[in-house]
Amino acid sequence: MDQPHVVILGGGPAGVGAAYKLRKEGKARVTLLERNPYLGGNAGSFQEGEQWLDFGSHRLHHASEPEILADIQMLLGPDLKDRPRNGRIRLRGKWVKFPLSGPDLMLRLDKNFALNAAKDMVLKNLPGGGAGGEDTFASVLRANLGPTICEHFYFPYARKLWGHEPHELSGIQARRRVSSGTFAKLIKKVIKPPGKGFFYYPREGFGQISRAYADHATKDGAEIMLGWSVAGLKKTEAGWTVETTKDAETRRLDADFVWSTLPLTVAARMMDPAPPADILAAAGRIDYRAMLLVYVELPITQFHATDAHYFPEENVAMTRLSEPKNYFGLSAPEGRTVLCAEIPCMVGDRLWTMSDEDLGKMVVEDMRKVDLVPPVAHTRAFARRLPQAYPIYLNGYQDHLVPLDRWLAEQPRFLSYGRQGLFAHDNTHHALYMAYAATRCLDGDRFDTAEWSRYRKIFETHVVED
Ligand SMILES: Cc1cc2nc3c(=O)[nH]c(=O)nc-3n(C[C@H](O)[C@H](O)[C@H](O)COP(=O)(O)OP(=O)(O)OC[C@H]3O[C@@H](n4cnc5c(N)ncnc54)[C@H](O)[C@@H]3O)c2cc1C
Repeated sequence: MDQPHVVILGGGPAGVGAAYKLRKEGKARVTLLERNPYLGGNAGSFQEGEQWLDFGSHRLHHASEPEILADIQMLLGPDLKDRPRNGRIRLRGKWVKFPLSGPDLMLRLDKNFALNAAKDMVLKNLPGGGAGGEDTFASVLRANLGPTICEHFYFPYARKLWGHEPHELSGIQARRRVSSGTFAKLIKKVIKPPGKGFFYYPREGFGQISRAYADHATKDGAEIMLGWSVAGLKKTEAGWTVETTKDAETRRLDADFVWSTLPLTVAARMMDPAPPADILAAAGRIDYRAMLLVYVELPITQFHATDAHYFPEENVAMTRLSEPKNYFGLSAPEGRTVLCAEIPCMVGDRLWTMSDEDLGKMVVEDMRKVDLVPPVAHTRAFARRLPQAYPIYLNGYQDHLVPLDRWLAEQPRFLSYGRQGLFAHDNTHHALYMAYAATRCLDGDRFDTAEWSRYRKIFETHVVED
């Protein structure tokens, strides 16, 4: 039998990872549709002059599956470096190394704070300490870490990151997002940070990983169509017809299988026949947090030796400020560096619609507030906008996600996966893991849904690395 035709929607890590694997193993003919003119999705990069810039701070974590890491090392060769992390968090007006280090915490934080955090631990372990039956982000973390560290770090950070009060967020957010979700784990991290404080990073920005996957998939015969936006999915007897547009041109592609990494809410709305009304209503009740990336160019070679500064404080809009050149340890270009501020927001809100110039001024003002005054005036500021940066796990979100997810899973020859497709707050190596798992489930013209369900259970155990 001929190989089935798999049309992959989206060219982020989940999409390009599947294109690479499917072609490498000769399992399918592959066409990949990506609406942007570049690959990598949220984990992509773009070039500004001589510099590659990411969409916010991205690192490849040591926690990556060995098979995936080996592939990336093979694909990038010497362009992938193992780098020491050099980040710091601003806590109570003081800078503390990130990942946390025991001696640094002791030296930098005031005694009252340390005493209160220790007292919280003792009280938590007394009868009556604990969550008290609630399952919210606030109750889970308060029960495990105590109020001091929550009120000073996790709660203000959560308000900025997700735009909601910690008690409005589901307990799952704490379990998926906070890899040091218990005091014991936090202490373990303090003593021995995962990956010993190292990460992998490519010479030409984080997006080089996705570009390398796509290049190899193309060499192996995949067709990668950049700038093509998916507009419709029509069910046919044999599979699907995918409608895609670029500028004024529309094409229709016949697919035996559609593998979608689009937001599952978007994919459901594109389907013909349309989902039942209750499923469409469910799709309207879950949402993603957006992210503004504001790039500020300074006419100096390096701003700071730190690669990323984290800000839980609520008096500044940014959650993180990174200096992309530091990630690979580049000195070029001489006399120029670009900083990247991450500002969570919602599509269409006041921040999202601000001009690039005003955003640049706001970031510089924020930098002053946290004692990171630029030594010279910035020469330029520009912004990029990610409409779907983080899934928002509000209390009760599963009441809407579960039926939507189940309905999509029932659509024959259709697979929704990846960070947006499964509404999963995941890292790049998790998205790639999903792509590899999906490829394993394809056997001739049959997709093994039972095997995929087993993989879904594994995906649920993934915890985000910061
Ligand atoms: C600020 C930030 C920092 C992060 N830092 C890290 C980190 O340090 N390490 C790490 O491992 N991970 C990090 N991540 C997570 C990482 O970016 C994601 O795990 C990864 O991008 C998920 O890949 P994906 O392919 O599942 O989804 P995406 O990257 O979201 O890709 C989906 C693709 O679908 C495309 N698409 C959407 N709609 C259409 C359409 N209608 N037609 C065609 N194409 C469409 C999009 O353009 C996009 O390219 C970070 C994420 C953010 C937001």
